[in-house]
Order: sequence, then structure tokens, then C-alpha cells
Amino acid sequence: MKRKARLNQQRPPIPEAVKRAVRQRCFFGCVLCGKPIYDYDHIVDYALVHEHVDVNITLLCPDHHREKTKGLLPIEDIRRANLNPKNKTLGTSLPLKLHYGGERFSIRLGKTYFDTDQLKDGHWMIPLVMDGYPIIAIHYEDDQILLDLRLFDDQFRQVLVIIRNELVFSSDNWDITFEGKTLVLYQKQRDILMVMHLNAPSELWIERANFHVGSKRFIVTADFWKYNQATVSVGRVLAQVGIVIGHANADSPMKGDFPSAVRMG
Ligand SMILES: [Zn+2]
Repeated sequence: MKRKARLNQQRPPIPEAVKRAVRQRCFFGCVLCGKPIYDYDHIVDYALVHEHVDVNITLLCPDHHREKTKGLLPIEDIRRANLNPKNKTLGTSLPLKLHYGGERFSIRLGKTYFDTDQLKDGHWMIPLVMDGYPIIAIHYEDDQILLDLRLFDDQFRQVLVIIRNELVFSSDNWDITFEGKTLVLYQKQRDILMVMHLNAPSELWIERANFHVGSKRFIVTADFWKYNQATVSVGRVLAQVGIVIGHANADSPMKGDFPSAVRMG
């Protein structure tokens, strides 16, 4: 045990480029079950190989990692899953249940808080509507807060959704990191589509994002929102409908006129 501890101390961290290659090859989830919460696991122990080579590293969720460490999960099963990761066959990540609850909720877009408290059955709040589609919404039902979010890229592909507190992302993104409560989705190298902090039980903080609907793009930065050439900076919003962009079409779920806090284009 002492010897192992000493070896671990000398072990350098896995280089970021290697980690990213592993994440992409494993489709951003445990290769066995697809869960998007995972550890980097050396298929052949680091103590034997003394190097961080991406082909020898795979992603395992904490449960499967424990099973491996306890010797309950044969290495051959891991090798097989590593060649055909679960999320590759699914095309998406395994749904991750978000533990939101209580009677109040904040959605933070950049530095702006969309707040609601004293939630009761049937209450709802929609901070962002684009072309008549609710992009971020919460509603309260059966004593539960339910969060919905839809993120599309500039190719109109739906790359991440949260539906009734279940988060799922497309597994062919360029990169997705999920460390602690922070999820970062990259459309391309150095091209971040969203940075979000899943602050359960009562906050979703979108630090920065590019929300696309059709050819429209709504940008959230740390200091302001941007749409076309217009920038807006707001401190706090208490309204059922927050930002409205574009106009509903025949298929849009939110048609007609409704009051909103901010209208941009
Ligand atoms: Zn797993």
C-alpha cells in the first residue's frame, strides 16, 4: 500500500490533449453504461505501463470503476466496451437526472437573474423564447421544479437538451467537459457553445452561450446579451416571460402576443 502511494505521488497528471482524445473516442460517457459522470481509467494499470497513452485510457462511471477496482468487472469486458462505447451506439449520452427542487428557482444568463419564488402547482417561467419556441423554461408540477432547455448549434442540430430535469447531449460534439457542476460544450476547437453550472437544488447558471434557432443567434456573455447588433445588460428580471427574439411561425408552440420583459428583434 505504501509503495503504491509513493508511485501515485510520482505519477504526472494525464495531459489535457490525451484526456480530450479519450473523451471523444468514448463519446463523453462511461463506455459500459454511457453515464456522463466518469473517471479516466487506465485499462492496463498505470503502475504497469508508466505512461498516459490515450488508447490505454477509457472512461468509466464511478460504479463501473469501483467494480473494476474490486475485481468484479473483467478487463475483457472493458476492452470490448471501449471498442464500442455505449454512447456511440445510443447516439446520445445516457440521461442524467438533475436534482432540482424546493419552492424557488433562479436561472442566471450571464449576470442577469431570472427569479421566481413561492412556486406553486402550475407556475411557470420562460426566460428565453426564440421564434415562438421556449428555449429555457421551468414549471412547477406535483411539488417539483421541472427544467427544460434546448441548445442547437449553427448547423441546426440539437446538441443538448434538458427535458423535465433530464439532461442528454448528442455524443458527436467536438468536446464536452463535465467537471464538478460545470458542463462546457465545444462546437469546434476553441469554439464554445455553452458554459453552464448546474447548481442544484435551485439555480441554473449559464455563464456564456450561443443560442441558435434557424439563422438567429442570441449570445450570452458574462456582461451582456447580444442579438444582431444590439446588446442589452439587465440586473434582475421578475417576469413570466423574459427575452423574446424573432416571431412565431405556424409550428411554434408559443403563438400570439404575450407580455415579455425584453424584446430583441
Ligand atoms: Zn458505467
